[in-house]
Amino acid sequence: IFAAVEMAPRDPILGLNEAFQADTRAEKVNLGVGVYYDDNGKIPLLAAVKIAEEQRQKLAPPRGYQPIEGAVAYNKAVQTLLFGANSALVDAGRAVTIEALGGTGALRVGADFLNRLDPKAKVYISDPSWENHRALFEAAGFEVGTYPYYDASTRGVNFSAMLEALNSYAAGSIIVLHACCHNPTGADLTLAQWQQVIDVIRSRNLVAFVDMAYQGFADGIEADAAPLRLFADSGLEFFVSSSFSKSFSLYGERVGALTVVTADRETSARVLSQVKRVIRTNYSNPPTHGGIVVATVLSDPNLRAQWEDELAGMRDRIRLMRTQLVERIAAAGVTRDFSFVIQQRGMFSFTGLTAAQVEQMKDAHGIYAVSTGRICLAALNSRNIDAVAKAIASVIAN
Ligand code: PMP
Repeated sequence: IFAAVEMAPRDPILGLNEAFQADTRAEKVNLGVGVYYDDNGKIPLLAAVKIAEEQRQKLAPPRGYQPIEGAVAYNKAVQTLLFGANSALVDAGRAVTIEALGGTGALRVGADFLNRLDPKAKVYISDPSWENHRALFEAAGFEVGTYPYYDASTRGVNFSAMLEALNSYAAGSIIVLHACCHNPTGADLTLAQWQQVIDVIRSRNLVAFVDMAYQGFADGIEADAAPLRLFADSGLEFFVSSSFSKSFSLYGERVGALTVVTADRETSARVLSQVKRVIRTNYSNPPTHGGIVVATVLSDPNLRAQWEDELAGMRDRIRLMRTQLVERIAAAGVTRDFSFVIQQRGMFSFTGLTAAQVEQMKDAHGIYAVSTGRICLAALNSRNIDAVAKAIASVIAN
C-alpha cells in the first residue's frame, strides 16, 4: 500500500522545534515558535481558566455530544467579542458562528464550505503570510495566489501595491486578511486603510475572509476588533476565523470559531445548515472542554475581568520585550536602527536578519529563529534577552 509514499517535507516551524529539542546547549533559546511564554519561560495557565476548570470539575457533568455547531453560549460569546455587546449585525441574525478546532479548524471549515460554493474561485493570501494559510486553502481544493503586503524597505505595508492587486482580481475571489498582529511581519493596516480595502472588496465583489488569531495582543480586545466593526458597518457578507489559543493560552484544547456574516437571518439559516454538513462529515462535533471554559470565563463578570487583566499582562510583557530588545541591541554596539521592532504588533518581529544570519545565530549561539528572520518576542525573558541581543549584534557585525 505504501510503496509509492514519499517522505513529506518537514513543517518549517515544527522542524525547527525538533532541532531545538535535540540541541544539548544549556543556553539555547527557541524564538521560532508562535506561543506566548511568561518571564519564566513557561506557557501560562491563566488563573481565570484554572477557576473555570475547577468549577467544571466540581460539577462533573456527563460528557454527551455537543451540537454540530458547538455550544450556544460559546458561539454567542464569540460574536460579542468580535462585534461588541450591542451589535446591530448580531441582533439582525446576520452572524452564524460555529465552534471550531482552533483558528486552523475554523479556516478549514470555512475553506471547505467556500469550495462547495465556488471551487474555481481563486484565494489570495498576503505576501508573506502564516505558512499554513496556503497549504490549508490548497488542501480545500483552491488555487492560492498572493497579494503584495510587506515592504522590507519601509518595514511596513506596501498599501498602494496591495490595493492595486485587490482591484485586479476577478469577482468572487477570496481574500484572506489578518485582522491584527500580522503573522509573520507584525505590520498591520491602519483603520483608514481597512476602510479602503473594504471599499475595494465591495466594488470588485470579492469575498473577505478575516483571520483573527491574536485578538487582544495588539492594543486590546475592543481596539483589535475595530477592523471587524468596519466590516460589520459595511453591510457586506464575509467570513471570520477566530482563535482562543493565544488569548486564553489554551493552545492544546483547540478552541476557535468560524463566523459567517450573511445578508439576513434567512440566509444565515441556510448557510448554517450547509456549514453543519461540512462539519458532520469531518469531525462531527467539537470537543466540550475548551469551549465551556472560554464561555464560562466570558460570561462571568469577575472571571472576565480577571482574564482581561491577564491578557493585558501578556500584551504588556511582549511590549516590554520589544523595547528592551531594541535597547540592548543598541547597547551591544549596533548602529543600525532597530526601533521598528517597537512599532510592530503582536507576537512576532520580522527582524530583517537574513537566512544566513539566522543560521549563524543557531550554530554559534544556540538561538533558533525562522529562516525568514521572524522571531517570537514572547519567547524572550529577563534571563535570555541579553544573550539574544548580543547574538544579533554579533551576526550583524560578521
Ligand atoms: N491564523 C494565524 C495568522 C495564526 O498565526 C495562527 C496560529 N499560529 C492560526 C491562524 C491558527 O491558530 P490555532 O492554533 O488556534 O489553530
